[in-house]
Amino acid sequence: MFIPIPDNISPILKEIGTISYSKGHRAYLVGGPARDLILKRKLKDIDIMVEGNAIGVAEEYARHHNMRVKVHPEFLTAKVKGRKFIIDFASARKETYPTPGSLPIVEPGNFEEDMRRRDFTINAMAISITPDNFGELIDIVEGLNDLNKGVLRVMHEKSFQDDPTRILRGIRFSARFGFTFEDKTLEYLRRNIDYLKVVSRERILRELEFISKEGIEGIRVLTKHHIHSVLNLCTVEDKILNKIIEFSEKTGINPEKSLLASLLMCTDDFPLTSHMRKNINLIKSLGTFDIIKVARIDEDYLPLVYAYIENSEEVVKFFTVRERISPEISGGEMKKLGISPGPEMGKILEEIMVLRWQGRIKTKDDEIKFIKGRLNA
Ligand code: ATP
Repeated sequence: MFIPIPDNISPILKEIGTISYSKGHRAYLVGGPARDLILKRKLKDIDIMVEGNAIGVAEEYARHHNMRVKVHPEFLTAKVKGRKFIIDFASARKETYPTPGSLPIVEPGNFEEDMRRRDFTINAMAISITPDNFGELIDIVEGLNDLNKGVLRVMHEKSFQDDPTRILRGIRFSARFGFTFEDKTLEYLRRNIDYLKVVSRERILRELEFISKEGIEGIRVLTKHHIHSVLNLCTVEDKILNKIIEFSEKTGINPEKSLLASLLMCTDDFPLTSHMRKNINLIKSLGTFDIIKVARIDEDYLPLVYAYIENSEEVVKFFTVRERISPEISGGEMKKLGISPGPEMGKILEEIMVLRWQGRIKTKDDEIKFIKGRLNA
C-alpha cells in the first residue's frame, strides 16, 4: 500500500531518501509522523529512520541546504532545523532496558528491531522514502489495522515494565485520538501500573505536561485508569474540568497550564518551576475572591482560579477589567512624589489597583490625588 505524501514535504523526503540511497541505506518516515500522514493529520515534525548511519545522511542534507546539524553520536541521531520543519534523523537501533524505568542502552539494529522497540503498533509503522518504493507503507506489526480499529497495542508483555512512561504516552494518544487500550495491553497496564513510581519525577512531569496539552480528555483518561492515585495526583472532578474549559473558551486562555496545575495542587512531590509553584500556592490560599491575590496570579492559571473559588463570576469580571485596574502612574512619577522604590511603592500600587477595582479611582489624576492624600495623612 502506498501512502499519499503531501506536496509540502514530498521534496524534502525525496531528497533525504536519495542521499541515503546513494550511501547504500534505505530510509523511512517513521513513528508519529508516519501515523499522522496515514490519519491525514498535519505533521508537526519529520522523523527519519535510516537503516545505516543516519548521522552521515543528516550531515549531507544539512550541507546541501546550508543548515545547522546537531549530532548525538551516543544515541545514533542527528537533528536538522529546517525552515518549516525540524527533521530528526535516527539510525535503526535496538534498545535494552537494564532495569524497569531506566533509560535504555541503545545499539545499532535492523529495521525490524527498530520497529519492535517502539511503544505502540500505531507508532511502529514506516513509510519508505527510498526512490524505488517512495511512499510504500511497511507495517510489520499490523499497526494500520490497529489504527483503523482505534486501539493502542504494545509490542510485548514487558513493554510497560521496561518503560513505564509508555503508560502515560498511551494516555496521551488515547485522549488525542479517542482510542482505547487493546484488552491484553490494558491487562499489562493494570499489572505494571506501579512501575510508574520508579520513574523520575522529572520524566513523569514531562509526560503530564503532554497529557495536559490534550485538554480535559487527557485528565479524564488519566483518572479513568487510576493513574492519579498511583502518582499521588489530585482527583480532579468533572465539575472542575468543565469550569476550566468554560473559562478558557470565554477568554481564549489556553487551558493546559490550569489543567496541569489542577493535578499538582495536592502534592509537593514534583520539581515544579518556581513560577508554577507560586501560582499554585496563591490559588490554594484563595478562599473567596481576593483581588490582590488574583492580580498576582499569571493569566494562564485564571481558568483554575475560576474553577476553584466560590464567587467565580468575579474572576470573569477581573479578566475583563484587568487592564483598566492596573495603575497608570509610573515608578518615576511616584519617585517624584516622594515615594522611594521598594516594598512601599509596591504596596501603594496594590492599593491603587484595589481602589480602581472598587471603582473609587478611575484616572491617573485620581491616583496622584490618592498618593498625595496618603502622604499627608
Ligand atoms: P506526538 O504526536 O505527541 O509528537 P509521537 O508519536 O511523534 O507523539 P515522539 O515522542 O515524538 O512521539 O516519539 C517519536 C516515536 O518514537 C514514537 O512515535 C514512537 O514510535 C517512538 N517512541 C517515543 N517514545 C517512546 C518510548 N518511550 N518507548 C517506545 N517508543 C517510543
